[in-house]
Amino acid sequence: MLTRTEGIVLRTAVFGEADLIVTYLSRDHGVIKAFAKSPRKIKSRFGSSLEPLTYSRIAVLGREDAQLPRLTQSDILRPFQALREDYATLVKIMQLVELNLRFLPEREPNADAFRLLMQMLGKLEEGGSRELYHLYYKYRFLQIAGYLPGLEICGRCGSVSGDRAVHHFYLAHGSILCEHCAHDGEEKRPVSAGALRFFQGMQKWRFATIDRVTVPEPLVGELGRLLDAHITYVLARPLRSSAFRQ
Ligand SMILES: [Zn+2]
Repeated sequence: MLTRTEGIVLRTAVFGEADLIVTYLSRDHGVIKAFAKSPRKIKSRFGSSLEPLTYSRIAVLGREDAQLPRLTQSDILRPFQALREDYATLVKIMQLVELNLRFLPEREPNADAFRLLMQMLGKLEEGGSRELYHLYYKYRFLQIAGYLPGLEICGRCGSVSGDRAVHHFYLAHGSILCEHCAHDGEEKRPVSAGALRFFQGMQKWRFATIDRVTVPEPLVGELGRLLDAHITYVLARPLRSSAFRQ
């Protein structure tokens, strides 16, 4: 069966002497893998379309349940070349790519994750406030994946966070806890009241309007570190099956 879709190359892995296994985040089928025959030969018809982050129109051939369908077509729609030219930029983006690889089950359609990554790559290529984009991407991605941390109410009793200057985020709960529910000895991170308010406002953001947002840089840094700690904690444990996510 021939399947046509569009996809962003997440990564490639060498297979045999001249072949590659290409992992895509596709528009219609979520994360998919395809076997590319001889792309490393000089006259390969795939050209540079298998470079990481390249957005292409692709076709894969194989039975629906085949583990590794064969890539038969790959035409570049948008190369995102500039994002690969600067090493520091690329390293940061590959962390986001890693989120897709780790959180999203293979062959489970996820149009939201696809759209989000497309928007993110587009914004990064334009330039602008990259730290803010990265923070916003992680926020939306965790929401899509069903792992957005809870920073609005106590994760145990549901009480609304009070007027304290500093709250605490408990990694094992994935949320803040009020002082009645928190126990000593649980791994936690302090979160400032300013960061909490800022985080709660992020729900209204969109990539289309994000450049109008002005945020103090320390808050972006604080929330970025908090989300990273949360992600590291979550990924160190088995993920919930998608059927159990809210
Ligand atoms: Zn509580």
